[in-house]
Amino acid sequence: MNYIGRFAPSPTGPLHEGSLLTALASYLEAKKHHGLWLVRIEDLDQPRCQQAHEKAILEALEAYGLHWDKTVMRQTDRIDRYTDLFQSLIAQGQAYRCGCSRTDLKSRHALPHYDRYCLLHPANKEPTAVRFKVEQCSGFDDLLQGSQPTPSEGVGDFILYRRDGIVAYQLAVVLDDYEQGVTDIVRGSDLLDETHKQRALQLTQDYPLLKYAHLPLVLAADGQKLSKQTFACALPTEPLEIIKQLKKAMVRLGQIDEKCDIPSDVGAFIQFALDVWDIQKVPKVIKNS
Ligand SMILES: [Zn+2]
Repeated sequence: MNYIGRFAPSPTGPLHEGSLLTALASYLEAKKHHGLWLVRIEDLDQPRCQQAHEKAILEALEAYGLHWDKTVMRQTDRIDRYTDLFQSLIAQGQAYRCGCSRTDLKSRHALPHYDRYCLLHPANKEPTAVRFKVEQCSGFDDLLQGSQPTPSEGVGDFILYRRDGIVAYQLAVVLDDYEQGVTDIVRGSDLLDETHKQRALQLTQDYPLLKYAHLPLVLAADGQKLSKQTFACALPTEPLEIIKQLKKAMVRLGQIDEKCDIPSDVGAFIQFALDVWDIQKVPKVIKNS
């Protein structure tokens, strides 16, 4: 398979207008390449993730005609895999335990970039976090956001395993993408800066480097960032409303205009969307209307 894409929601709420854009764009881009589209549930942050939301997200994807390939992967089923990885990184000297509290970091001005205190003074108090010892970083070209040079200040030794016993997103996402054979990622620009960290980890592990397309964030009509509340509502599930939402998403993604005649059946709409899809038409900025 030449192209494997994925959609990786966190079940902290239902699928909403913002996550629909990401789901739809990643689906269409994968299918345009005759590739696979996988769904992964990123539910490591257990206090905030709920099974009811997971169920609602999967049902909404199906109702919106976004059918995934293979079995849905769930991160909480993979804790042993993540633990193996950070332990082997520690054993190879590529990661180390860090006992610093947030107060410690603040008092040493070690935020946001860690000062490697615990690399030089091994942590002797529990609980400890595990930090990745970043040694190589490289810029990358984003299909939508252009050239992304390595940040001049580096990315800092970031956390792989949190002091509160939760596997960090950066570790899980890199291992999952690798083990699922993902080749291309289409996701929101809120994750653009995290990409440098993920690539640093991929480089150390000799994993194949992925291609990225970060979708623009949806801004309010006045150009300001939308509040989280704006996109907190669950999407409608009535057939006519589904078509309206899919059309709105395609307009926002720059693929069609408001006046465009569209099929009234979900399956036919997705086929139509696939026929017109061109990721290069995605605008630099998406304004909420
Ligand atoms: Zn420390």
